[in-house]
Amino acid sequence: MTVNHYAPRRAIDTALISGETIRALCGERFVPSLRVGSGGKADAPGAVICAECEGLHDLMGDLKDLRDERDILNRRISDAERLLADARRGKRLEKPALI
Ligand SMILES: [Zn+2]
Repeated sequence: MTVNHYAPRRAIDTALISGETIRALCGERFVPSLRVGSGGKADAPGAVICAECEGLHDLMGDLKDLRDERDILNRRISDAERLLADARRGKRLEKPALI
């Protein structure tokens, strides 16, 4: 049974030409190859994805999403801090009160 692993795209591209060994996300070392008839796709019939690689790949996606959310929140915090600083400078607000 063929097991597919995730590895950095650039390393795969280089190794497909050079035939060098690369390291998958799971740590497995292998020489990547394209099967005839696969069209360059990893999801050829009968192939399975390494569970550890798949978990790490999903985790990388989750991490990217979390970093994107963090960046959005950091921008909102900066905007809010700037607005409050402007308000304090202009109006000398100590404690805001709703009127
Ligand atoms: Zn793997």
